[in-house]
Amino acid sequence: MITKVGIIKITDATECEKKAFILAAEEFEKEINNPKFWEELRMIYPQWLYNNNLNTAAFKRLFLSGRDKFETKDDFHIRINVTFYYSRKSVVGATYPSTWFTWVNRNIFKGFDVADIAGNQAHEYLHNLAFSHPGANKQSVPYQFGYLIRDRIKKRLKLSPETKVKVKRSFWSRIKRIFKG
Ligand SMILES: [Zn+2]
Repeated sequence: MITKVGIIKITDATECEKKAFILAAEEFEKEINNPKFWEELRMIYPQWLYNNNLNTAAFKRLFLSGRDKFETKDDFHIRINVTFYYSRKSVVGATYPSTWFTWVNRNIFKGFDVADIAGNQAHEYLHNLAFSHPGANKQSVPYQFGYLIRDRIKKRLKLSPETKVKVKRSFWSRIKRIFKG
């Protein structure tokens, strides 16, 4: 059986942003339905699952089940509900326990390729499965899993391994930079 990733709703996005998000979801779906993905995950497992009392088999079952906080009334397992907004801060996005939505900062998103977006979709889905990361702990499950998704897609599609983050500096931080020389 295939685990389907579905875009349920994209709010306040341009057509271009929507297309990128849909393409990314397709790449995300390809990865999680590829046994090689789970094989690679199993190899890096000790570094990031050790403090979550999960083995990779149990984690895989949970991940593919789609038993997140969404109610199932459609054919998808993994559901994406996203709202775009604009901020000069270097925050990619956020979600909260009380909501189905994820917010994506289009200022950062502009620099993202399809692999970066897919990695972010995986990261946010893990929040919907109740995985968190105190502060922005890069060793946490949402970060490590998102990075693996991202890096495998970048490799497969021969995309630049870097993530271009476009952040327009605020007026005051630009002024400060001028005086720093
Ligand atoms: Zn997060």
